[in-house]
Amino acid sequence: MTKYYSVAIDGPSGAGKSTLAKMCAEKLGFLYVDTGAIYRSVGLAVKNAGLASSDDAAVAKLLKSIKISMNYDTDGLQRMFLNGLDVTDEIRRPEISIYASDVSAIPEVRSFLLEMQRNLALENNIIMDGRDIGTVVLPYADVKIFLTADATERARRRYDELLLRGISANYDEVLKDIEYRDRNDSGRAVAPLRPAEGAIILDTTGNSLFESFDIICKIIRENIPI
Ligand code: C5P
Repeated sequence: MTKYYSVAIDGPSGAGKSTLAKMCAEKLGFLYVDTGAIYRSVGLAVKNAGLASSDDAAVAKLLKSIKISMNYDTDGLQRMFLNGLDVTDEIRRPEISIYASDVSAIPEVRSFLLEMQRNLALENNIIMDGRDIGTVVLPYADVKIFLTADATERARRRYDELLLRGISANYDEVLKDIEYRDRNDSGRAVAPLRPAEGAIILDTTGNSLFESFDIICKIIRENIPI
């Protein structure tokens, strides 16, 4: 049986997980999976259905009637589909972050998405980022990294990224959103954000993107024979 390797990268919003995981996956020839995009797709479904993200029972019921899927385009970009519709760009809107964070605290949402995430690791060398990859989704990952940085620096990075994508943003709002999601993600009862056992904790405050990239590639190479 082919052995597939997995790298789990967890951490708070704006720590640079997606950018760094994508760069490392490209360099190493691994598949990159952004699990935040999957939660965002559920958040969008809840918003579109006009439900309150705090209404656990209604959200759990909605899950029975939606289909979340993903694929990769010719540039290797992960595209998300909600009931067959491409929602890749729409899920990046700032208000969807809050929906995603709220619905991700609902146990039924987490179990609904668990198998989809685990299945991807069965057939690919993978770098997966999220909040509970090392603790819940892939506890046997070959490498576990917990990536973090000061909230103000994370907000600055997220703000710059939104502007770059052409989405208008306000720095104070972005910081408020990050602090809200930190509290939500770390404080929830199910799969709270925390470093997994055996995770390497990497604080990227003050690092350039390429400094963090080099450190992560080195950690992966030291632990996976590639
Ligand atoms: O990573 P991103 O910021 O796109 O994720 C959006 C939200 O989805 C997070 O704030 C978090 O609440 C939730 N999430 C999660 N578990 C994951 C990935 C994302 O709870 N593995």
